[in-house]
Amino acid sequence: MLQKVLIANRGEIALRITRACKTLGIKTVGIYSDADKDLMHLRFVDEAVCIGPGASSESYLNIPAIITAAEITGADAIHPGYGFLSENAEFAEIVESSGFIFIGPRPEHIRLMGNKVSAITAMRKAGVPTVPGSAHAVTTSNALAEAKEIGFPLIVKAASGGGGRGMRIVERVDTLLESVQAAQRDAEMWFGDDTVYMERFLQKPRHVEVQVLADGNGHAIHLFDRDCSLQRRHQKVLEEAPAPGLPEQARADILEACVNACKLMQYRGAGTFEFLFEDDEFFFIEMNTRVQVEHPVTEMVTGIDIIEQQLLIAGGLGLNIQQEDVECNGHAMECRINAEDPTNFLPSPGKIEHFYTPGGAGIRLDSHIYQGYSIPPYYDSMIAKLIAHGKDRKTCIARMKQALEEMILTGIKTNIPLHKDLILEDANFCSQAMDIHYLEKHLLQKLEGHVKEGS
Ligand code: ADP
Repeated sequence: MLQKVLIANRGEIALRITRACKTLGIKTVGIYSDADKDLMHLRFVDEAVCIGPGASSESYLNIPAIITAAEITGADAIHPGYGFLSENAEFAEIVESSGFIFIGPRPEHIRLMGNKVSAITAMRKAGVPTVPGSAHAVTTSNALAEAKEIGFPLIVKAASGGGGRGMRIVERVDTLLESVQAAQRDAEMWFGDDTVYMERFLQKPRHVEVQVLADGNGHAIHLFDRDCSLQRRHQKVLEEAPAPGLPEQARADILEACVNACKLMQYRGAGTFEFLFEDDEFFFIEMNTRVQVEHPVTEMVTGIDIIEQQLLIAGGLGLNIQQEDVECNGHAMECRINAEDPTNFLPSPGKIEHFYTPGGAGIRLDSHIYQGYSIPPYYDSMIAKLIAHGKDRKTCIARMKQALEEMILTGIKTNIPLHKDLILEDANFCSQAMDIHYLEKHLLQKLEGHVKEGS
């Protein structure tokens, strides 16, 4: 069993990992930047080490500083959380070669999935359905031939891409070559790798993903699925589990395909297979080799603590859950609460003046903020995740609405009006699942008018 875990992250996920460690009796080491000495989890960890200045590049992405912190505190394992170094294969390798346990998959799997071309190729071999497309590098010399195979519209994507950056939709053949070149330039700039590939652009897909856990020795299970279709600029805004209205056979087939792929790879730890779902068909887009922001919705419907399972697997205790023991009960939903101006989405850091946290049956709040806390300007604007669970989707939505109504958060601007007054009041959203364009195409224009009227 692990003895002492260094948490290489900040914010709500650092607090979430601290909680899971403490519940298992594992000692904890927190790290923080100069800008983060007031982080909530630092009050609960056994030791805390300052690892550098506010900018992430000098602190939470500073590998030598993090390894040194683990050495001086005698930690035996490092949990990377999500974001920052969590999908950096080199970091995982350095962690392991420095004698620590990396709480995550083997570096080779992080690397395999970090490159979307190799990920798609591996998934095709494992029998997981992928988007029709190139699955190899595309350049100006082979783009035309590839595009003929795929058809229009198509999307050009960076092989090393992430965060929804640098994708280009191509509607017609006459803009193909310039789009490929522009995507290559973007890919080089964002990811230091100009490899791009192309796939069919799906017009109205939903984003459906599958949560898996695996022990690294061929035992793997799924924890059902989530729908994360409500997105802005390819960033998730609201997530739910299970994905509403999936045809049962298609769901059973995709869950099985993901578990089989994990067994084949001898995957270790938690992971998520992401798909686009259109016309009752699944198309793999990528795999995240880490815990995800939206993991609580799965925890609410399955009752399984995913971070606890990560710690047990990393500690050599294996995965002691059989597939037949996993049930999906009721429905859960998560609203990401961001410190941002709801009219223009610009970050709104600053001091929290009042904070009242909602409660009641089926309500959970994962957050590190508190009254008097100042949100630093350096990091992601997500400051809380409000999660609701109910016996069905309707109950879940009703509980979420009430919780948002109760939530008081002043001193900064937040996107609470987006959730409360638009998404959860939208009759289409409440009656069925929406496609990935719905939020931007149909809801966001309403927001500006609404906030102006209300202010
Ligand atoms: P990233 O790693 O940058 O997040 P993904 O491949 O996961 O990139 O895609 C992010 C989002 O972009 C998806 O959730 C979806 O909204 C959109 N997207 C990606 N590929 C396609 C596609 N082939 N057709 C339509 N939309 C796509």
